Amino acid sequence: MTTSHWFKKNTSVTSDASTDVLIIGGGYVGLSTAYWLSELKPNLKITILERRFCGAGASGRNAGFLTKGSVTFYKSLVQDWGEEKAKNLYKFAAESLSLVNEHILSKYHVPFEATTSSTLFRSTEQISALRRDCFSPEDFNFKWSEVSELPSPLRSKFLGAYENGPEYKINPVDLLSSLKSSLFKRGVELIEDTMAFEICEEGVRTENQLIKSKQVVLALNGYFPQFTNKFHEMITPRRAQMLAVEIEAGFNCPSLYYDSPERVYWRKAGEKVLLIGGKRLLDEKGEVGDYEKISPVIQQGLEQYISKELGLKYKVIDRWSGTMGFTKHELPLAGKVNAPMETFLIGGFSGHGMGLGFHSGKDMAELVAGFKTESFFYQFQSVDISL
Ligand SMILES: Cc1cc2nc3c(=O)[nH]c(=O)nc-3n(C[C@H](O)[C@H](O)[C@H](O)COP(=O)(O)OP(=O)(O)OC[C@H]3O[C@@H](n4cnc5c(N)ncnc54)[C@H](O)[C@@H]3O)c2cc1C
Repeated sequence: MTTSHWFKKNTSVTSDASTDVLIIGGGYVGLSTAYWLSELKPNLKITILERRFCGAGASGRNAGFLTKGSVTFYKSLVQDWGEEKAKNLYKFAAESLSLVNEHILSKYHVPFEATTSSTLFRSTEQISALRRDCFSPEDFNFKWSEVSELPSPLRSKFLGAYENGPEYKINPVDLLSSLKSSLFKRGVELIEDTMAFEICEEGVRTENQLIKSKQVVLALNGYFPQFTNKFHEMITPRRAQMLAVEIEAGFNCPSLYYDSPERVYWRKAGEKVLLIGGKRLLDEKGEVGDYEKISPVIQQGLEQYISKELGLKYKVIDRWSGTMGFTKHELPLAGKVNAPMETFLIGGFSGHGMGLGFHSGKDMAELVAGFKTESFFYQFQSVDISL
């Protein structure tokens, strides 16, 4: 956001600042990059620049599934990239969860629940379609649960589920707060309420100052095209809507659930609270963009799922949305970009950023620190852009 001439008279212009590495974007990925960079190079001066507050983007608005991904996601990876690369990604995601558990969740006593994620199946056709085409879910550690093993409220609608774990149910804002505290202890500087406008030879221009920096990391996820329209071809912002409802006690479904044909994901968030998101395909075109709003068609779709598919009576507690950054191949982009100064980008998590984010921050930090020359994600797509 810019400031008009008239308001500017009342706004103090901050003197120029300087840092070694400036990370733009205070979401889970920007904070994770700062965490690992401060681990690898403790003497480096690291600054995070966030236009609102940490977690204002998707990172503070998501469903809190820290997962490796659904069985259908892995099938699509095998189809698109082959088994070896799909397994590489699976291991990367598993490592991301164990790293965040060790470094943040357990260390800082963040409340979380270790659980499994379950991809639900409603028909034999759906099951045989998944198992066709040389895809073997067991090779990815997915375990088949028969209908008799499903929680009782799900037995009338579903035939079984592929489960995977350990995975985590978290409140994403708690996770970000602990990550942020750990950064403060390490001397990482955070500038909030300040928007980056452009990268120039000396650093980054904001509304009121120039922040001189030796290196810059852009971690803008769905907001990349806002920063410069050169990103339009690479990353598309898409809205994701959520609904939180109060339900009666006794609906005992402990996992994180994906229902792929219905395009929904849901979980309990307390004894009487259910969170549900998805149904984006009910208005695919309308859900393109980075304006955070809710729409009746998607919200009604989510409500209908709760009553018809889960058979629950409910009272609405909250409705909200967030912006995801989608790449064409639906995997993140990470690498060096051609810019007036040494600049890296990481983003386009396509709905998987909480699962992949912590390890992706490590991968990016290793790149910025010069410990490697290519991001892990380079095997899927190289970054080729000039700013
Ligand atoms: C409703 C919803 C549910 C989801 N559920 C899940 C889930 O359960 N599990 C999962 O793995 N993923 C989920 N996701 C996706 C996940 O939240 C994202 O992939 C992840 O948060 C991406 O993190 P990030 O740091 O890259 O992006 P963001 O959190 O979007 O961070 C980008 C930051 O950049 C800032 N910014 C933008 N432009 C500028 C600028 N010019 N100057 C300074 N700062 C700027 C923004 O304010 C923002 O804080 C969900 C997403 C949504 C929206």
